[in-house]
Amino acid sequence: MTLVARHGALSDIGLHRKTNEDTFVIAPPLYAVCDGMGGAQAGEVASSLAAETLAAAVADGRPLLAAAEEANAAVYERASGHERFAGMGTTLTAVLLEGDGGRFVHVGDSRAYLLRGGALRQVSDDHSLVGEMVRDGRLTEEEAAVHPHRSILSRALGTEASVSIDEFEVDLLAGDALLLCSDGLSGVVGADDIGSALVADDPQEAAEELVRLARVGGGPDNITALVLRIERPGDEGRDPAASPAAASSAATPPAAVEAAADQRQADGSPEAAEAAPSAAPAPRPDGTPMLGPEGAPAPGPGEAPGPGREARRLGCLVAMLAVAVVIALAGAVILSTVYFIDVDDGRLAVYSGLPVTVGPLKLHVAYRRSARPYASLAPFEQRIVDRRSLRSRSDALALAERLGMWP
Ligand code: CA
Repeated sequence: MTLVARHGALSDIGLHRKTNEDTFVIAPPLYAVCDGMGGAQAGEVASSLAAETLAAAVADGRPLLAAAEEANAAVYERASGHERFAGMGTTLTAVLLEGDGGRFVHVGDSRAYLLRGGALRQVSDDHSLVGEMVRDGRLTEEEAAVHPHRSILSRALGTEASVSIDEFEVDLLAGDALLLCSDGLSGVVGADDIGSALVADDPQEAAEELVRLARVGGGPDNITALVLRIERPGDEGRDPAASPAAASSAATPPAAVEAAADQRQADGSPEAAEAAPSAAPAPRPDGTPMLGPEGAPAPGPGEAPGPGREARRLGCLVAMLAVAVVIALAGAVILSTVYFIDVDDGRLAVYSGLPVTVGPLKLHVAYRRSARPYASLAPFEQRIVDRRSLRSRSDALALAERLGMWP
């Protein structure tokens, strides 16, 4: 017998973030949550691109795991092609209902929970540094919940050309409730409260209650809850959204359109905006003075050397000096507007300037130092640091935050 589900979902920006980098997919029988990461809109691009790619591939009949691998490739390619998106990634936790169970794919620290008979069970493993430490027995769940580096992922979608994706199946029964959520929910709302909220018969009511609890708990991050109530076909008559056909026609287009619209918007604006930082140094301040003084006093053709020659030579010298001053000033301005992240004595730091040293002359100064050791980063994060890419101050600080540099 094939089970069906009624669904409810809500994504909320939370109380402290300027953007919502979470995305969810409702395209029955496929459901997913993605939590993007990366500064300056890159997280939104990563999560919506992953969601859109996954949904399209499943709709085209690809197996779920292959669809998730396509999503990884799509995010990775976009990140590789644009410096602004370098290192962006996303979590992905998705379930495809088929037959009497759910097939899951999962990467990152978003979570899938199953509520059965009043008992709540997390069915996904957290791919985070503290998650690995809990599984190794080096930390307790309680210690992990308050660990300063709890947001550091050990695996993410889109940060590498290929990624190890967890795939597993869970048998489902009528009466079960499933929750897919981002860490902005699970990091704030305890298991007991999640279990109580999931008891609600109306999945939308449950999702809204969970988001409300996360906001009451401080809402430090984006909050996304996607709730499914599993039922036998025929039990769902009281809710028009419950039959697979109705659910498909009612929910798929808005979800798909929403993801696509987010994508286009996120796609267009950062890439268009990408021109801005690189265009900023374009009106070169040294260009005008260089042409001006040189052009004006240029000797006419066949003009004889005479008493004006010394004056012209002096004028030329002054002009060259002026050019040198302008170039030095421009250099100083550029050095104070570009930033990069590097390692000093084994610890991470944000630098202002260029990652270049010419003899005794360093073209950068430490802007903000972190106590976080380079060695504690995940391999993919070390590779991001290794590139020493130039960034705007806000991009560099966003990356620093993502790397857990300020616990
Ligand atoms: Ca998050």
